[in-house]
Amino acid sequence: MKGKLPYTKYDLDHYFEKYSDVYKEVIIKEDLLRLGVCFTDAALEESSKFATKSYYLFSYDAMDVDDMKKKEFIKAPECFKFSSGPYDLKSTNNKTCLESSDKTPYKVDFVDGKLQLFWENNYLADVELRSKPPYYRHTLPDGTPYSDVAASVFWGYLTFCTILRSCQYWGAKEECVFCDINKNARKQAKTGRPFLIHKKIDEVVTVLDTIFNKEREPINHSILFTGGAIYREAQQLQGKGNIEFYAEYIRAVREKIGSRWAIHLQTTALTKEDCKYLKDAGVNCHHSNIEIWDKDKFNIYCPGKAAKVGRDEWIKRVCDSVDVFGEGCVVPTFVSGCELAKPWGFEKWEDGVKSMKEAWEYLMSHGVTPRSSSWVIEPNSALGQYEQPPVPLEYYIEVDIAWYETWKKYNLPPIYNFTPMGLGRSLSINSGHLDMGS
Ligand code: SF4
Repeated sequence: MKGKLPYTKYDLDHYFEKYSDVYKEVIIKEDLLRLGVCFTDAALEESSKFATKSYYLFSYDAMDVDDMKKKEFIKAPECFKFSSGPYDLKSTNNKTCLESSDKTPYKVDFVDGKLQLFWENNYLADVELRSKPPYYRHTLPDGTPYSDVAASVFWGYLTFCTILRSCQYWGAKEECVFCDINKNARKQAKTGRPFLIHKKIDEVVTVLDTIFNKEREPINHSILFTGGAIYREAQQLQGKGNIEFYAEYIRAVREKIGSRWAIHLQTTALTKEDCKYLKDAGVNCHHSNIEIWDKDKFNIYCPGKAAKVGRDEWIKRVCDSVDVFGEGCVVPTFVSGCELAKPWGFEKWEDGVKSMKEAWEYLMSHGVTPRSSSWVIEPNSALGQYEQPPVPLEYYIEVDIAWYETWKKYNLPPIYNFTPMGLGRSLSINSGHLDMGS
């Protein structure tokens, strides 16, 4: 069996007791992200009336779309909030990471007209879904839904626009080993759903004009532009390089929606000069994802990044860019937990935590606010070709504790206009670290 292995039975209360200083909501959220969730038929039918998974970047599913016989990929929600239940949980937002029912203890069911979350068939919490935002009803002249151009994530706080749903780091020698962007794009396109790979400037401007000028919901605050890595000019990009390619979108969007709303941009790590160019175009925050801290593992896990930029240079550029964008505005992501993956990962989860603590300490001491995205074992990634036991829950809890303590130690601001922070306020879906406190 390849990919994520079945979990070993465990006692959730044991973790609540062992980490009694950590909110139960953080523990459940991390557990949901590492093990995934399944939906009953009735829950899927109900969910399909709300904002469903848009596959805005990666699949974030532990099960292959080919195995989704109930068409979960068009019925399951983008995210869900869980709250109340026997532990009186505060409302906590979470990404839907689909998994088959035999490999996760978490299930969403539709009971007596209400969606509910179960752990090992025990009622755990009520589930709330986000309504489809008003702009989801529109389509471009060619029939592409606006939701395929820009997805409403973080309960709508963030509008996520993947300009380029493919990465120039291509194949085994360049793609990051935990990433399924290129394979997911091919598979999603085959399901028949609309799936634009390269979005044109006028399409992006039209959709963002609708969201921020014409039909704005009070929850809408920020835009995150991203795409796979670009390191060479290509015909598909009209011969433009990385910086100019993105700068044209940013300038056109700024011209249409003004400066009130924050623009976050994810690209490869850039020189200060390039960062200044993008800031002048209208970017507020820059994300050059480091993915994994350990030096040797970075070279194995991110071969394209290692070959084209290099690990130490990548980190230097991230730290230097604080001089351009400022504190709270340099936000590299880590795929937390992947450093424990077979066959190259640490044997002991404690060593993974140690590595992440070094990352938080080094980066935050330089004014960087890194963020954690808990690893989803995607079957179409390179790591999904190996047998992967789920990452121990202790690892995620301790990484979140370390993030929050280091963030407080350096008196850093929250990530700029990304999500509110703290229990019951955070809208982040990728990890529990932003729910820890504020
Ligand atoms: S840079 Fe790595 S993580 Fe990012 S899209 Fe390319 S292969 Fe995926």
